[in-house]
Amino acid sequence: MDELGDGRREFLEIGRLAGRFPAASAHAVPSEIAVWCSNDYLGMGQSPVVLTAMKEAIDEFGAGSGGSRNIGGTNHCHVQLENELADLHGKESALLFSSGYSANDGSLTVLAGRLDDGIVFSDELNHASIIDGLRHSRAEKHIFRHNDVAHLEELLERADPSRPKLIVLESVYSMSGDIAPLAEIADLAARAGAMTFLDEVHAVGMYGPQGAGIAARLGLADQFTVIMGTLAKGFGTAGGYIAGPAVLVDAVRSFSRAFIFTTSLAPAIAAGALAAVRHLRASQEERDALRANAALMYGLLRERRIPYLSDDSHIVSVLVADEKKCKQVAELLLSRHGAYVQAINAPSVRPGEEILRIAPSAVHTEASVHAFTRALDDIWTTLALPRA
Ligand code: PLP
Repeated sequence: MDELGDGRREFLEIGRLAGRFPAASAHAVPSEIAVWCSNDYLGMGQSPVVLTAMKEAIDEFGAGSGGSRNIGGTNHCHVQLENELADLHGKESALLFSSGYSANDGSLTVLAGRLDDGIVFSDELNHASIIDGLRHSRAEKHIFRHNDVAHLEELLERADPSRPKLIVLESVYSMSGDIAPLAEIADLAARAGAMTFLDEVHAVGMYGPQGAGIAARLGLADQFTVIMGTLAKGFGTAGGYIAGPAVLVDAVRSFSRAFIFTTSLAPAIAAGALAAVRHLRASQEERDALRANAALMYGLLRERRIPYLSDDSHIVSVLVADEKKCKQVAELLLSRHGAYVQAINAPSVRPGEEILRIAPSAVHTEASVHAFTRALDDIWTTLALPRA
């Protein structure tokens, strides 16, 4: 075992992973791999609280839901989870989808598509699922420069004041890891009479009181009409949801093809997610551990002058800015140091803005954060990459 591993749960046996890295490197791969790009940010995917709830639900309800939500596939676990999520976000109602992708695609298709003569304003770095939902809605769409409040204001001012408006954004951006100026955008929305749709996929569980997200951290949750989240990252399981006013949630329930025409989440998944949400509402421990590991990593990267995009959140996007070298860094991390981080190239980022998207989690050890940063530094030197 090399210095990255001391038996912690973040280390997975290569035997289990071998199939996942067939072409990762021409070099021999160490016998144990530390994963540094998992979205299971808080370790809830391995938490006994979640695993026990899932096992019990399998014994009680079986493996699958047996149908779509409207035809036999609604289980007690789905309803409890929707109620819990509505309460978490302080909204009247919530609706589950089989993934965060479907939640964005399905709900934006309906919400933007059924706004009579509506106009949508969307951040240029919004996730593919948001882009697809807005495409499917066929609503008129204006793209504002990333996190650029002045540009959004300009676009809003140019729009006909009598037309209904919807602003769509994320709180923590998935690739750059930076955070949207939510207070300014909420203020603009209020002045323009616009509805808002906030994707908190990379924030729920991790930020705010009880893990309710960035808007809640700022005391602004009530100023965002709809809050959207996933159960697959901080909550460690699978599925997505929206939370908002009952009338809008009912519209999505009634018209969203992504909600209606598919089998609902397995009850055990809903039970596991419910256990994760409840646990993280009561426990601050995981959030504190995540924050400490992210802060430690940023500090070590600064010391070593390894460039990153932003230190707003726990998503550490190290800038390589070269497609070939980005892949080389990832390969060397794996073959030399047994650390797995996926290189992020176009189209996930713009060409020339290639990154290593590193996700220190609540279950990494402090020692492993030090070892990982040393490993990255070693490769930075080997490849003569520019320092910040
Ligand atoms: N929204 C954002 C910002 C994302 O980054 C992702 C996935 O990474 C999604 C939505 C989709 O969520 P899910 O993985 O649950 O489908």
